[in-house]
Amino acid sequence: MAKCSSCSAPLPANTNRCLYCGTRNDVDLQGRHAYTVVQNPRDRLCPHCEKPLQTINLNPDAAFLIERCPDCFGLFFEPGEVETLLDNSVTHVFDINLQQLDNINKDRYQAKNVVKYIKCPVCRTFMNRSVFGHRSGVIIDRCKNHGIWLDSGEITHLLEWKKAGGQLLHRQKSASQRQKSKTARHTSSGSRKTIDTADYNLEVDALTTLASMIGKLFN
Ligand SMILES: [Zn+2]
Ligand SMILES: [Zn+2]
Ligand SMILES: [Zn+2]
Repeated sequence: MAKCSSCSAPLPANTNRCLYCGTRNDVDLQGRHAYTVVQNPRDRLCPHCEKPLQTINLNPDAAFLIERCPDCFGLFFEPGEVETLLDNSVTHVFDINLQQLDNINKDRYQAKNVVKYIKCPVCRTFMNRSVFGHRSGVIIDRCKNHGIWLDSGEITHLLEWKKAGGQLLHRQKSASQRQKSKTARHTSSGSRKTIDTADYNLEVDALTTLASMIGKLFN
């Protein structure tokens, strides 16, 4: 469990503000990732607070830039960057712990989360809401051109999900789904064969009719 940076009291999941001292904590980055704020003012605005986003660099060795709202600590990732961050942060997961996945989602469930569509910080059009991965419990906002918005706490939630085997489970599920649709395609191509045969039969019928007509003409 994350701790308050100011008084060390444990922070409940998905909460920025310490219940004891009132300090606003960045649950996603503080103590988890070394990062620097890149002085690179951009005209991108937080979809919740309408404040300009900060560009921060998560990798001291190479540029791994993401955008963050200094007020609500929401994060904006360009396409593929969430996956890169997950891959770099959580490795060597070989087991799927379903009980733990359930517990994480229970801990992090927020009843106050109302369904609200928000705008992409780049193009300002409304983003799509979708579940990040199987049993992740995280509903992300995605602009298909510019990237993914994660509210504060959601990247931590995804890191825990991956650690508990969530991504493994997701891959297994999508693989079996692909298998299923493959089987479905086989079945439908099978039925197409039937149609092909039917077409062929029709053609044969037509030829027979034609032949008999020609035969009649010459008889
Ligand atoms: Zn505190
Ligand atoms: Zn914000
Ligand atoms: Zn966009």
